[in-house]
Amino acid sequence: MPSRKFIIARGPIRWFLMVSKSVGIAMPWGRAYLLEPWHQDRLTRLHELVHLRQIQREGAVRFSCRYLWWLMRYGYWRNPYEVEAYAIEAEARERRGAPGKERRSKRLTA
Ligand SMILES: [Zn+2]
Repeated sequence: MPSRKFIIARGPIRWFLMVSKSVGIAMPWGRAYLLEPWHQDRLTRLHELVHLRQIQREGAVRFSCRYLWWLMRYGYWRNPYEVEAYAIEAEARERRGAPGKERRSKRLTA
């Protein structure tokens, strides 16, 4: 996969990731921004790649609207887009037997 798909988050996107206790975010324009310590982490990349595929599959506008709607309706962990991404990530984690780089967890605040 081309590495320009994954960009080290800087400026306002980095700030947003910090305050939302996230490590990465996929954007409708087909790129994922990751905090520097997670930029090379395979599982983090895989997770964001699932979101990039969701964006391709459903279109950027539909994805963005549904993501926000589902976030409000179901919350982060039960948002179907996140459920799909975390399921694929968990499969890969089991296959590889590697835990990947520890995240700062949203569970602490959400
Ligand atoms: Zn996600």
